[in-house]
Amino acid sequence: MSISVQSCLIIGGGISGLIAANILQNKGKKVTILDKGRGIGGRLATRRIHHSEKITGVFDYGMQFFAVSDPLFQQWVDQWLLEGIVTEWSNQLMDTPTSGYRGQDSNRSLGQYLAKDLEVHLQTRAIAIKHHNSVWTVETEKGQQFQGESLIMTPPVPQSLTLLENSSISLPSSIKSKLEGVTYYPCISILALLEQVSFIASPGWLRPSHSSVAAIACNHKKDISPQGFAVTIHCTPEFSHSHWDIDEAVIAEKIFHEASHWLGSPVIDYQVHRWRYSHPKTVYGEAFLALEKPGLLVLAGDAFCERTASNVHLTLEKAVLSGIKAAHYVLNY
Ligand SMILES: Cc1cc2nc3c(=O)[nH]c(=O)nc-3n(C[C@H](O)[C@H](O)[C@H](O)COP(=O)(O)OP(=O)(O)OC[C@H]3O[C@@H](n4cnc5c(N)ncnc54)[C@H](O)[C@@H]3O)c2cc1C
Repeated sequence: MSISVQSCLIIGGGISGLIAANILQNKGKKVTILDKGRGIGGRLATRRIHHSEKITGVFDYGMQFFAVSDPLFQQWVDQWLLEGIVTEWSNQLMDTPTSGYRGQDSNRSLGQYLAKDLEVHLQTRAIAIKHHNSVWTVETEKGQQFQGESLIMTPPVPQSLTLLENSSISLPSSIKSKLEGVTYYPCISILALLEQVSFIASPGWLRPSHSSVAAIACNHKKDISPQGFAVTIHCTPEFSHSHWDIDEAVIAEKIFHEASHWLGSPVIDYQVHRWRYSHPKTVYGEAFLALEKPGLLVLAGDAFCERTASNVHLTLEKAVLSGIKAAHYVLNY
């Protein structure tokens, strides 16, 4: 197989990989994204529960909404607003009146939009990487091989570290220990389809205090689930950690009991999703990590930033900025 000298492989089709891919492709690089997930977008995640012919719940069950503080990210968001890809959900979602944005149809639709002109291989888990004759080869679980001149890895840092270890790629010890210091909060998310509309007041977002529930979103009031009273419940990191290995039915029963006065309706269907890495607790301290040996390898994602976001709703911004800066590094290399 001949390798384009301008080719870049990206492991991870979350927002940081997608942003990097768009920048590189627009500058003439041949870009290939590999993602282990069934859908594009990573933690920009949306799922449907079909209950009956008339009832389908649509759930954003990863990121709920994002805020903007950086002018560079604002430029991207302004373009997405112009194109109708994102919309302002409300400016009443946080403690101060700040715009909280969501995908127009759902949060996954932002990932789908960013992926529309890219070569993306879904359900393609990278299990090893190697560098030989100036070319990176990524081997996948299904036995495929993808090759590229440069490689960007955007999974959560512990997953990238495992991949590097399994590939016998050694890192300078100071960098390795810095990467090992990156940690994330776990989050158990419960997708609950209700019989009646929830009691959560408009705009459909609540952050209880003194509860195992960190936040609840009413996807119906959020306007992404017209045919189903779909509610997403995010459990606190403490509850998620202590209930990680507990049976789903037990978790759901506890949380539905605790959330009953916000739900205000019987649950007719539900699913439980465990996010081992929901958002960073401790970060790497720089916008990306670039390694030049054995070949150009860049690590990026939401944990690559100077300090942990003061507010979880600025985490997506960190991932975007990391993707932008990683792409520019590769372009200027
Ligand atoms: C429950 C929850 C609530 C959140 N709430 C908010 C919020 O309100 N506001 C906000 O701004 N942010 C929020 N976030 C955080 C935000 O979603 C993330 O910061 C952002 O989406 C991370 O993007 P990323 O590209 O860095 O990583 P990801 O989206 O995780 O992308 C990494 C990708 O790598 C893929 N991958 C991993 N390993 C492999 C492999 N071996 N081979 C191939 N592919 C692989 C994964 O499938 C994934 O798609 C939330 C996240 C969660 C989970």
